[in-house]
Amino acid sequence: MIELDDVTVYYPKAEEPAVSRVNLSLQPGEFVCVLGPSGAGKSTLIRTINALQPVTYGQVLIQGENVDEMSEAQKRAWRSRAGMIFQHFHLIPRLTVQQNVLTGLFGKRRAFLNAAGFFSQREKEKAERVLKKVGLVDMARRRVEALSGGQKQRVGIARALMQEPEVFLGDEPVASLDPGTARSVFGILKDVHDKQQLMSLINVHDVALAKSFATRVIGLVGGEMIYDGPPDKLDSRN
Ligand code: ADP
Ligand code: ADP
Repeated sequence: MIELDDVTVYYPKAEEPAVSRVNLSLQPGEFVCVLGPSGAGKSTLIRTINALQPVTYGQVLIQGENVDEMSEAQKRAWRSRAGMIFQHFHLIPRLTVQQNVLTGLFGKRRAFLNAAGFFSQREKEKAERVLKKVGLVDMARRRVEALSGGQKQRVGIARALMQEPEVFLGDEPVASLDPGTARSVFGILKDVHDKQQLMSLINVHDVALAKSFATRVIGLVGGEMIYDGPPDKLDSRN
């Protein structure tokens, strides 16, 4: 459903491409980890998929639709089907866990309205259901600023789930967490992915995590795809 066809991205004035001639076809059910050092082009690649970064050559197709030819409304509609999970969470610290999760429905403005009781009972019940999936239902009324990093990212996952996404896109979602927490949050991500049969593309720099959880690994170095295959075929040369 997501296809990258010879995708190359040059940033303005850059001499080398950030992403170079990447060909990729992603299917529902796949849990794909993109491995690569800092500067490899992982983040740029994700941004081409969710229509935040136009490509210089080639094309990104979502169910056959070229992302760069979509109208702004179509891009927004596509992003609403793709749950994003960020390294630094992008939560609203002073709001509660439940309120942050509800922002997954309509964006930040509605979350502030929710402080005045604007969300329906049905929406709040939905928030409770997704919080159960990430093991945070007892924290619903806590302010996000009081949570640990791992808990914050579980809120991030729950917020993405509110969108009922078809796709999970993660830009280094566990890079700010200590190794043990990173592994447990990654496990939750994989669990949710499996239960909902999503298609996930997750950037990581930790090879061990990719080996443990990915169904498919993409290796990027200097913008080029140097590996595309099962995690167990990765060796030290990659
Ligand atoms: P990664 O996510 O693997 O760390 P990035 O996609 O962020 O890699 O970066 C790939 C390359 O593009 C790097 O050389 C980086 O410096 C460059 N780059 C990233 N974002 C920008 C930008 N907004 N403008 C110019 N160059 C950028
Ligand atoms: P022209 O339009 O002048 O015939 P092209 O559009 O084929 O030339 O390519 C212009 C430059 O961009 C060339 O250096 C070519 O190698 C490069 N280029 C073209 N397509 C791609 C691509 N998909 N990825 C990377 N570089 C490309």
